Amino acid sequence: MFGKHLFPGGVHPKERENGKAVNSGNPIVDMTPPARVTIPLSQHIGAPAKAVVKKGDRVVIGQVIGEAGGFVSAPVHATVSGTVDEIRPCLLASGLTVPAVVIDNDFQDEWIKLTPCSHPETLTAKELQDIVRNAGIVGMGGATFPTSVKITPAPGKTIEKLIINGAECEPYLTADHRLMLEQSGRIVDGVHIIMQALGVSEAVIGIENNKPDAIDAMTEAASGMDGITVKGLPVSYPQGGEKQLIYAITKRMVPNGGLPIDVGVVVLNVGTVFAIDEAVRDGKPLVDRVTTVGGLVNNPGNYRVRIGTPISLLLDTCGGLRSDVRKVLSGGPMMGMAINDLEIPVTKGSSGILALGEEAAEPAEGPCIRCGRCQRACPMMLSPYLMDLYIRNEQFESSEKLGVMNCIECGACTYVCPAKRMLTQSFKMGKRVIQTRRKEAADREKAQAAELEKEKAAAGLKKEG
Ligand code: SF4
Ligand code: SF4
Repeated sequence: MFGKHLFPGGVHPKERENGKAVNSGNPIVDMTPPARVTIPLSQHIGAPAKAVVKKGDRVVIGQVIGEAGGFVSAPVHATVSGTVDEIRPCLLASGLTVPAVVIDNDFQDEWIKLTPCSHPETLTAKELQDIVRNAGIVGMGGATFPTSVKITPAPGKTIEKLIINGAECEPYLTADHRLMLEQSGRIVDGVHIIMQALGVSEAVIGIENNKPDAIDAMTEAASGMDGITVKGLPVSYPQGGEKQLIYAITKRMVPNGGLPIDVGVVVLNVGTVFAIDEAVRDGKPLVDRVTTVGGLVNNPGNYRVRIGTPISLLLDTCGGLRSDVRKVLSGGPMMGMAINDLEIPVTKGSSGILALGEEAAEPAEGPCIRCGRCQRACPMMLSPYLMDLYIRNEQFESSEKLGVMNCIECGACTYVCPAKRMLTQSFKMGKRVIQTRRKEAADREKAQAAELEKEKAAAGLKKEG
């Protein structure tokens, strides 16, 4: 139906295979924990965590330093043992500034008492969901949505299938690829645990065909496991987008504004599944993650890094930046965010750090020539050139009518545009404006309703008087 692709649109970034080839053979290396970590209290979608430590407190690895701020939230844990030096604002790669706990490492490497479970099959769904919640696990492919919420279906919702995202379609990134090669058994074990938590009998692990060794490793690990299959997928960006992956595997289309659960599916990234297995089997909270460091660094690699490690130290571990670097990104070249401050910490969603040269220079935009390439590339079947036109003219409502809020910011339209239009940046900005306006309208409505209630109460009192 969609040519070579298993979903609408899609592109083939030329940097993809070369960028990945550099790092896919580099085994995961444990990075030495730094002398000081800065751990943001908001590394996830939803309410920020609330600090439960203060300056001068001694903490150990895995201790909760920030409690979840609500149902859609996640706790945050100490990633080194040592002393809390301060709680201060911290800049994130997203450009947001959030409170963070700064800990000076005492290098005692002391952990909280862990509660491992060697028989997860004896646990109830609720017990498994609680372990995942308390471990602070969020979507580690970069989405950072709290995983416990995903695996706790709302009443009335039925889940039929679990899909595991091993596509890793962003150029340069190889962290998931290495995890699938080195931890295939634990990932399959994690899949089994999540199936138990969700009460589903079918799971599919989707992997792009440019990782045949990972397909083999995962297929072997899953052999003999009832209900778990591995599916090779055509190489196409953004194959790892949640909606694109669901369509490629099930032919079910998540409705606009809807969620995977609306078509009976839950999608989790392989890194998230590995973290769940560690949380359940080892009792280990999320204190580290595997991150790819690629592009123009002297020794690119895949590193297991403690959350809160400054990116500058991670780059030092990789032999430093080369002299021709023009831009450093958090994430891959298609969806990554440019960072200007290398003291920004590695967070739960940091799938990669990428240093780019000349190719990162932003070319001058030309006028739109109405070639339609952006529309053909869009995996969400949107009209990027029209949405962009409206946003540039501040006609945000018109861009909303065209579906800009369904844009997944994949960058495919920008990538193919011959006029070098900054389409994705335009949509990010437009979405922010629309969200702000929606919030302001909701606040206004609330205030008016409160005012009305007050007036009614006052009128009632007068009558009684
Ligand atoms: S790809 Fe670029 S030039 Fe072509 S229609 Fe889209 S915005 Fe215009
Ligand atoms: S960034 Fe948005 S508009 Fe552009 S291709 Fe991706 S989903 Fe479509």
